[in-house]
Amino acid sequence: MTPNEHETLVELSKKRLWLPFTQMKDYDRDPLIIERGDGVFVWDTQGKRYYDAFSSVWLNVHGHRKAEIDEAVREQLNKIAHSTLLGMTNVPATELADKLVRIAPAGITRVFYSDSGAEAVEIALKMAFQYWQNVGRTEKRKFVTMRGGYHGDTIGAVSVGNIDIFHKMYRPLLFDSYKVPYPYVYRHPSGDAEACRDDCLRQLEALLAEHAHEVAGLTVESMIQGAAGMLVMPPGFFKGVEQLCRKYDVLLIADEVATGFGRTGPMFACEHEDVTPDIMTVAKGITGGYLPIAATMTTERIYEAFYADYTELKTLFHGHSYTGNQLGCAAALANLRLFEKEGVLASVQEKSQWLRAELSSFEELPHVGDIRRLGFMAGIELVRDRRTKEPFEWARRTGYRATLYMRELGVLTRPLGDVVVFMPPLASTKEELSEMLAIMKRAIGEVTEQ
Ligand SMILES: *Cc1c(COP(=O)(O)O)cnc(C)c1O
Repeated sequence: MTPNEHETLVELSKKRLWLPFTQMKDYDRDPLIIERGDGVFVWDTQGKRYYDAFSSVWLNVHGHRKAEIDEAVREQLNKIAHSTLLGMTNVPATELADKLVRIAPAGITRVFYSDSGAEAVEIALKMAFQYWQNVGRTEKRKFVTMRGGYHGDTIGAVSVGNIDIFHKMYRPLLFDSYKVPYPYVYRHPSGDAEACRDDCLRQLEALLAEHAHEVAGLTVESMIQGAAGMLVMPPGFFKGVEQLCRKYDVLLIADEVATGFGRTGPMFACEHEDVTPDIMTVAKGITGGYLPIAATMTTERIYEAFYADYTELKTLFHGHSYTGNQLGCAAALANLRLFEKEGVLASVQEKSQWLRAELSSFEELPHVGDIRRLGFMAGIELVRDRRTKEPFEWARRTGYRATLYMRELGVLTRPLGDVVVFMPPLASTKEELSEMLAIMKRAIGEVTEQ
């Protein structure tokens, strides 16, 4: 692209676009337009190359322009781009459903498609709510969720979310849900993983003991709260949550939108603690980061509560125009074939161990308070005072400034407040990871010393 074409496009973007989760005043100051990608790199309209160190916001798996996925989408285009799933199905959506069930945790047998993680969560909420209506337990209509939870940006998903800076504004629009503390070990008064876990489980049990009779389901991000700042559960917490859901007859809704498809090591993060959810939501990595496909997966028990004569009105009345889109499902099938062909899970396990050691070198930086990681999902929490864990002043936007400097140095990521996210494509090589980390370390070091 010529410099003139670039300038024209930047002007157009400032004049016409309104970007998600973006203060447009920031964008106007620091515009960026991506033109192409290849492997772990993307290039902007001036030809500058960047590492995609956040997988284009937690999506990309095998890198950009992966030949097998490109080819699968092209092949599908030769047949048909889209037909509806309302009352009928199509070839790749059917094949993908079978494939997903085969790799899902035990007990999951059914796949309900949509187009984004938030929609998958909306469907999970309606499914859980209606399940109890359909089986005659009409008093079970509330949800329990974790403080700091994030499940997407639609009104239902925000109602079971709990990140003040995103959600507070919309509170008058939301339905009520019970919030229980999440084990944020670094900021728990005990600072101890087991004490923090037991404290949170105790509070969850107290709530369920009192309210379970009116609770339909509990939503939780599997193993790691992403948007809250990459908070990894202490060992035993997730299993404890599952056991309490069983004990109090509350449906366990595991949100694997960020963690699914190898991101944390195993195919799904539920596997870390052998958790078997009643409902599981997936999106992001399902198509390798190519196309908007999501799914709400569930058990035969739930499915059967909806299976009846039409006149009983037990149908799940939910659907979207592009549900089960063929191009997306074809990309997802190619993505899953690559997991087998390239041994992605084994390679992630191996590289994760190495990554842990590499990341620990960030401890040399005086303003790195905590480094959290599970598989290829990592966050580096920056603090003003490491000893007291005192945060930087919020308005200084230390995390944001660090990532802007990283961008200048050729690494793209997005912070969560003062937590710098590192979430590279699973296919990244150790050399590529090393270079990304070196740039990130330099930027964090320089910006936090200012
Ligand atoms: C990203 C995310 C969502 C929302 O997915 P979208 O596709 O952006 O709507 C939901 N839950 C979790 C845990 C996520 O990380």
